[in-house]
Amino acid sequence: MTLDRSAVWPYDERGEPREFLYARYGNPTVADAERALGALEGGTALLFPSGTGAITALALWLAKPGDTIALAAGCYFGTSVAFQALAKWGLRYDEFDQTGEPPADADIVWVEAPSNPNLTMPNLEAAAAHSAPLVVDSTVATPVHLRPLEHGADFVVHSATKYLIGHHDAVLGAIVCRDEAAARELTTFRTHTGIVTAADQAWLLLRSLKTLDLRVLRQTETAAEISSRLRTHPNVTKVRYPGVGGLVTFDVADGDAARRVETSLRTIQNMTSLGGVTSSLESRHRWEGDRVPPGLLRFSAGLEPVDTLWSDLSAALDRAA
Ligand code: PLP
Repeated sequence: MTLDRSAVWPYDERGEPREFLYARYGNPTVADAERALGALEGGTALLFPSGTGAITALALWLAKPGDTIALAAGCYFGTSVAFQALAKWGLRYDEFDQTGEPPADADIVWVEAPSNPNLTMPNLEAAAAHSAPLVVDSTVATPVHLRPLEHGADFVVHSATKYLIGHHDAVLGAIVCRDEAAARELTTFRTHTGIVTAADQAWLLLRSLKTLDLRVLRQTETAAEISSRLRTHPNVTKVRYPGVGGLVTFDVADGDAARRVETSLRTIQNMTSLGGVTSSLESRHRWEGDRVPPGLLRFSAGLEPVDTLWSDLSAALDRAA
């Protein structure tokens, strides 16, 4: 696990470039981290500077002007925002219910396992049966719970910023390709467009993957328990938990009640993002507007004891009435 921050490496004694020559083409620490993630997902992994960078790179490389992406409704809102930013290059997207079949005329099918914050699981069998390339954003499931390439996905996308890094200390993205030739082409596209990540972020990923299993299994156990306790709280009107992963979303009466819960917390951090060792919670309405109910709160389980988390959350919820 060596961190090599070099941007440039000397040519060999014959004056020929070695495997690594200039870091936009490749870096040994990035390559190590890609091998480790690729092994976990069962494909060839490429790192990108953020999850959104990975999404943008994949859309640009995969789609042509006039193509329509069938995008899971209720998935991470930033994915649709990224696609909107590409609209002037002729990219379109249509939202569909990922628990059913994708629209027949889709050029690319893009689902999320599970969707954030709706927390539905995609029907991977139906999505894989479609003739279009299938992209699965598996940020929340992680390879601990799901290996989408084994279910017919062509590409897996991660915001590695979340569970893969897991410590809220790096922004990073990844695409894992099922097909070697696709991975080679995408690598060339990445080099030519310069959407490359730093060695430091890759090193942090290598550090974090050592504990991925432990963290995600514990976070899943905690989230499952918190979701059942939430169902018993009188001020909670709806709970969403897909049965896997460390994310739970639930509704309180309205935006004011949500704000009271957020600002009453003591242990759980009121902040955005998810997947860290520190538990966090936030209202998603502030970012997503009418896409979500005004009282929707997203809880991401960290590694704190479940009773500590519940006493914090239930005391905050008591103020939501
Ligand atoms: N995909 C999912 C499911 C996410 O939750 C996020 C961020 O929240 C992203 C992609 C974007 O990742 P990043 O913030 O690393 O760009």
